Amino acid sequence: LEEIRSLPKLELHAHLSGSITQQKLIEMLERRGDGAAFTPFNCKADRSNALAKCFDYFAKVASVITDLDALKESTLHVLDHFAAERCIYLELRTSPKQFKVSSQNGFDGDAKLTSKLQYLETVRDAIQEFHSKALQRFGFIMEVRILLSVDRGKVTSKESALAQIDDILEMQKVHPDLVVGIDVCGNPHANTVKPYLLPALLERSYAFQKLPITFHTAEIPDDEESELIIDSMLKLNIRRLGHVTYLPDKCRRRVLHGIFADGGVGIEICPTSNMITKEIPSLDDHHFMDWWQKSDKILLSVNTDDVGLFSCDLSSEIYDLATAFRLSRQDVISIQRQAIRSAFHPDTARLSKMFDDMLSSPPKL
Ligand code: 5GP
Ligand code: ZN
Repeated sequence: LEEIRSLPKLELHAHLSGSITQQKLIEMLERRGDGAAFTPFNCKADRSNALAKCFDYFAKVASVITDLDALKESTLHVLDHFAAERCIYLELRTSPKQFKVSSQNGFDGDAKLTSKLQYLETVRDAIQEFHSKALQRFGFIMEVRILLSVDRGKVTSKESALAQIDDILEMQKVHPDLVVGIDVCGNPHANTVKPYLLPALLERSYAFQKLPITFHTAEIPDDEESELIIDSMLKLNIRRLGHVTYLPDKCRRRVLHGIFADGGVGIEICPTSNMITKEIPSLDDHHFMDWWQKSDKILLSVNTDDVGLFSCDLSSEIYDLATAFRLSRQDVISIQRQAIRSAFHPDTARLSKMFDDMLSSPPKL
């Protein structure tokens, strides 16, 4: 494990709210005199109905992160966490929220809301503050970019889907260097993407040609939806697929065969998260081997999803996967290089150089 900790690594699939450790959430609540309000959550203890419990957990996090100050503090905490893991590139995803501004007299009947752009700019401020001290604190500067998430759980009509997408596209236009892609996430039980979300995305497909999408795919068994997503990959520039836990064989074969003429498809594996949502007891039954070394059109990455929710970290995720499938150090390095190639960062050559430099000068333990 220590050997993996010392390796440079990439994180391509981490949700901001889910990446705040539970300890940090409790600390923030205690400062408000409200520490007892948070019951620590152990999803490994009881895996029944796991996905629903995960979404209850995000509601709990939202009750802690209720203003821009809390957002900034928690983002800084997440950045520190990944830098301490020797993560050289963090592609952090989040769906921008609006917070109530408490009014002067404490009466919030007509409370104003902060804007989604303020949310993004607060995250940007946290990244800048983190960068100002990163070299001194960690010995290297972790690159950070943002993916803005479309939350399928909040889609109730094609109009509401378009409204979410358009908000995100507007924000991306304001911060094109920071926002490098779109994520589609949210509760897959809430509704299928067929009636509203996919048609809305297709209506804006021109916008995604320069702004790639990563899509949470086949988290629950739904062959029809999986096929629709795979059918849309070219049109929507869906360059990466998250989880693919229950991807039907037919779809998997199409992805292995290759979708894009100019590059591979990124497959984002999140070992603990996949195990919990699939309700399997060990990684032995994980679908990693369906993809590993099966095609040069596949770019694998190993990620955490939500370190707070799943009480895991990047090194332990890679270690557990490497142990379960007897991966060598070179295999682990090969996966990191695949992750670099599937990153949405505009300068993957720079990430490659950074990776090689850090590989040849490991930290003194
Ligand atoms: P946020 O967008 O608030 O920074 O991160 C939390 C959100 O990420 C959740 O509300 C949920 O929509 C999404 N998310 C986090 N983990 C998962 C996951 O495992 N599956 C899916 N589908 N969505 C997730
Ligand atoms: Zn996810």
